[in-house]
Amino acid sequence: MNVLDRLDASPGWSDEERMLLDSVQQLAKEKLAPRAADYDRSGEFPWDNVRDINELGLNAMFIPEEYGGAPLSYCSYLACVREISKACASTGIIWATNFHAIKPVIQYGSEDLKSRILPRMAEGGLAALVITEPSAGSDATGMRTQFRLEGDEVVIDGGKTFISNGDVADVYVVFGKWEGASDAKSAIGAVVVEKGAPGLSVTGTEHKMGTRASGTASLAFEGCRVPKGNILAPMGEGLRVLLASLNKSRPSVAAHALGIARAAFEDAVEYINERRQFGKRILEFQGIQFMLADLAAELALCESWLWRVGGMIDQGVEDIGIEASTLQLRATDLAMRMTTDAVQLHGGYGYCADFRAERLMRDAKITQIWEGTNQIHRQLIGRSFLRKDK
Ligand SMILES: Cc1cc2nc3c(=O)[nH]c(=O)nc-3n(C[C@H](O)[C@H](O)[C@H](O)COP(=O)(O)OP(=O)(O)OC[C@H]3O[C@@H](n4cnc5c(N)ncnc54)[C@H](O)[C@@H]3O)c2cc1C
Repeated sequence: MNVLDRLDASPGWSDEERMLLDSVQQLAKEKLAPRAADYDRSGEFPWDNVRDINELGLNAMFIPEEYGGAPLSYCSYLACVREISKACASTGIIWATNFHAIKPVIQYGSEDLKSRILPRMAEGGLAALVITEPSAGSDATGMRTQFRLEGDEVVIDGGKTFISNGDVADVYVVFGKWEGASDAKSAIGAVVVEKGAPGLSVTGTEHKMGTRASGTASLAFEGCRVPKGNILAPMGEGLRVLLASLNKSRPSVAAHALGIARAAFEDAVEYINERRQFGKRILEFQGIQFMLADLAAELALCESWLWRVGGMIDQGVEDIGIEASTLQLRATDLAMRMTTDAVQLHGGYGYCADFRAERLMRDAKITQIWEGTNQIHRQLIGRSFLRKDK
C-alpha cells in the first residue's frame, strides 16, 4: 500500500457508506470513465451518466429522510464527488451542483417549499445555483436581478450568466435583490424557480475549455412569476444564506479538484513505470522521483484536509468559512499543477488526446475560478488575520 491508498482506507466508513462508495467506484470505472473522452469531444450533456447515477439513487444521500432521502455523512458525499470527478469531471460537477443548489433549500426553506421541492430532487432531479451576472462575479453584492412582490407572487427581472445545469435544471435557486431595500447587502434575497416558470428562458450556453459536457447557461428572467411560497430568503436574509451555502459547497469543489488531481497522478505514475528512455524506466530517474514526491506529498496533505473539513461539517460546526477557503485554494491549485505536470511526465504524448492527461489539465482550470476565485480565497484567508481591535 502506498501513502494514498492508506489515506483512502482511513476515513472509516459505515457499512452503508462503504457499500454505496463501492457502487459509485464501480459505476465510475465501468461506465463514466469510458464515456468521458467522447463527451469531452462532443460537449453533449451526459444524460446516460445522469440516468446511471440516478439508478443508484445518489441524490438521496443529501436529502433528509422525511422528504424521500436517505442521508449519509457529508464526508461520504465528498468521497462520491471525488470518485465521479476522477472518472468524468463534467459529470462530477453536474451531480455536485445538485447538492450546491439544494443545500440552502434544505437549510433555510419553509416546510411547504421543502415538501414541494425535495422529494423531486431525491428522485433524481437536477438543480442549479443561480448567482453570477454579467457585471457581478466575484462581487456578488453587485447583482442587479430584481425581486418584487405583487399580490401572492414574486416577480423576477434580470439576467444571469455561467450557470451550471442552467439549461437542464428542474429547480433553480436564484439570488437577487429585493426592491426597496436601503443598501446592497440587505437587499439580497433568494427564491426558488421551477422549470417552465413563465418568464424564465435559457438564452445561451458556453463553449468551454474544459468540463465541456456540463452545461453552462445564461438565463433571462423577464417578468418571471413564482408563488410567494417560493421565497427562500426574504430581505435582509439573503447574504447570510448565500455565504452559508458557499461554505458548504466549497469543500465539494475541492473534492472535484482532488478527483481530477488523483486521476492525473495515477495516470502519470502508470505511464512513467512503463515508459523507458536511456535504458531505464522514467520513474527510475531521481529528478522525476523528486517531482513525484512533491506531488504525492501535496496530494496526501490536501486529501487529509478534505476529510478534516468534511468531518467538521458532519459534527455540525457552522463557522468553517476559512477552513473551506483554505481547502479549496490548495486543492484547486494542486489540481492545476498536478495535471500540468502529468502532461509533462507523458512527454509529447501528454499533449495529445490519446491520453487523458490533456483533458484533465483543461478540466482542472475551472476549479481555480468558480465558487470564489483563488484570489478571493487568498483575500478571505489573509483578511481573517486582521486584528479587529486596531
Ligand atoms: C464553467 C463555469 C461554471 C460556473 N458555474 C456557476 C454556477 O453554477 N452558478 C453561478 O452563480 N456562477 C457560476 N460560475 C461563475 C463563477 O463563479 C464566476 O466566474 C467567478 O465567481 C468569477 O467571477 P467573474 O467570472 O465575473 O470574474 P471577475 O470577478 O470579473 O474576476 C476577474 C479576475 O479578477 C480577480 N479579482 C476580482 N476581484 C478581486 C479582488 N477583490 N482581489 C483580487 N483579485 C480580484 C479574479 O480573481 C479574476 O482573476 C461559473 C463559471 C464558469 C466559468
